[in-house]
Amino acid sequence: MVCERPSGWPPACETIVETQPCDIVFVCEHASNHIPEEFGNLGLTPADTVRHIAWDVGAAQVTRRLASQMGAQAFLGTYSRLLLDLNRPLGSTDSIPVISEGTVIPGNQSVSDEAVALRQMHIFTPFHTEIADYLDRRLKAGRETRIVTIHSFTPVYLGVQRPWHIGILHGASRAYARDIMSRLQTDPSLNVALNQPYVISRDGDYALPVHGDDRGVEALLIEIRNDMLATKTGIERTADLLGCALSPVYPFQPGRSNGEASLAKDTQP
Ligand SMILES: [Zn+2]
Repeated sequence: MVCERPSGWPPACETIVETQPCDIVFVCEHASNHIPEEFGNLGLTPADTVRHIAWDVGAAQVTRRLASQMGAQAFLGTYSRLLLDLNRPLGSTDSIPVISEGTVIPGNQSVSDEAVALRQMHIFTPFHTEIADYLDRRLKAGRETRIVTIHSFTPVYLGVQRPWHIGILHGASRAYARDIMSRLQTDPSLNVALNQPYVISRDGDYALPVHGDDRGVEALLIEIRNDMLATKTGIERTADLLGCALSPVYPFQPGRSNGEASLAKDTQP
């Protein structure tokens, strides 16, 4: 068994450390389109490696902004989902996809057991172990905890238009999902829906069911249509929209607690 991380392979997780007590922990599995050089882009063109098939366009920037504005902990993947998808159970069909949205992935057509094990060992296992260990410590300390995972989706999928701007996906946390959806729906220009454009499943998801539902921790997966994230302004606006729905004191200002914030609001002339 090879244990050393091969040279040119980065650590599997970009961790943003909490700077203010925050009930939310962010996860962004499809944050990166990085494929180590030795894989030769898995036989894809450079253009394919910047498309949605390789990562969730804009999701990392939204996650980083939410984490920084809220002082929250966040975990971001550092490899392309085409090498190994962090949001699929190991061994599932899409864990190492041979085809993605109609595009054949040449480098995944016949991957040896050893090569599969190497990707699992250096991408999936350290990423999810880091999250699991962190959640264990938080829950042991009795801290209020919610998990919010950030994803993005294409406006058109296999020729079909998707009308939603934002989808709130849930497993066990239906009430939390409805609450966040109704807060976003106060903006009438936004088309927000529950469980669109996907639904959570044990075969098709990992972080939400395993880190959230299995622990009894409230958890949501937020899907953002990626044409909202095409510019820096769009990314910031969308992140702030989500932040305001997720937290009553967004953006967090040091030295101000939740209680002080509402008191300040109540006593405004
Ligand atoms: Zn995703």
